[in-house]
Amino acid sequence: MENEMSYGKDYKYVPSTSVASGNGIELLPDIYTHTIQIVNICLVGDPKTEDFVLIDAGMPLSADKIISVVEKRFGPNSRPKAIILTHGHFDHVGAIIELIEHWKIPVYAHELEIPYLTGEMKYPEPDPSVEGGLIAKMSALFPNEPINLGGQVEKLPENGEVPFMADFKWLHTPGHTPGHVSLFRESDRSLIVGDAFVTVKQESLYSVLTQEQEISGPPRYLTPDWETSWESVKLLEELHPSIAVTGHGLPMSGEELSNNLKNLVANFDQIAIPDHGKYISEKPKH
Ligand SMILES: [Zn+2]
Ligand SMILES: [Zn+2]
Repeated sequence: MENEMSYGKDYKYVPSTSVASGNGIELLPDIYTHTIQIVNICLVGDPKTEDFVLIDAGMPLSADKIISVVEKRFGPNSRPKAIILTHGHFDHVGAIIELIEHWKIPVYAHELEIPYLTGEMKYPEPDPSVEGGLIAKMSALFPNEPINLGGQVEKLPENGEVPFMADFKWLHTPGHTPGHVSLFRESDRSLIVGDAFVTVKQESLYSVLTQEQEISGPPRYLTPDWETSWESVKLLEELHPSIAVTGHGLPMSGEELSNNLKNLVANFDQIAIPDHGKYISEKPKH
């Protein structure tokens, strides 16, 4: 099985890093997020137990870093029960093959994302023409050839349950990618967003470097379907999350989160959707 796995042929280290890189934040006793260069991984589970999962798998060549973050929080030789993927972009699966080989654990993703994780389908090319800044312009250099996890990736159960995350349900939040999911825990309204919305202007090098907090739609250069992205943000806003961990940017909570989300839903065409770009034909209006 293992030797079936391969990264895309343009897989490489991406030299972008934010001030938050290397920082970890414990949001709740069982929710911890850590920034790997420009993307966040999340560990869900009580550090006093061995019951935990890893959400997303960081940047290319970050496996040693991720393993040390896990061992620091859960103890030497600890391993998650599974890796849950919000989606399959390079910055969310960057270290996954080494992690699977090291931990020998299952990986779960939405059924519609699996073709992109098994080498059958390729995401649309990033769009460096969207306005927003240098990261958007650099996005043409990001790895985009499909990863192949072979038989190592399984689909999330259809009933909405998340394996090894008893209190969480997955929600289909497409637009950024076809099989994008977010994870929600009703009891305390914790939301793990993925890239359905983010709290930093991911297109802008300045914002990414400084992690200046600002609610934003999904990263512009990698989002092909804006109408569907808007619907997904509405769905998430209607959950009234109390805390949100996003794939990029610092976590947001409380009134700041609810006000920002309301604003994003009401003004998604202004805040999120680029004025021009190759995935914009006519700007949707609501
Ligand atoms: Zn993404
Ligand atoms: Zn991302």
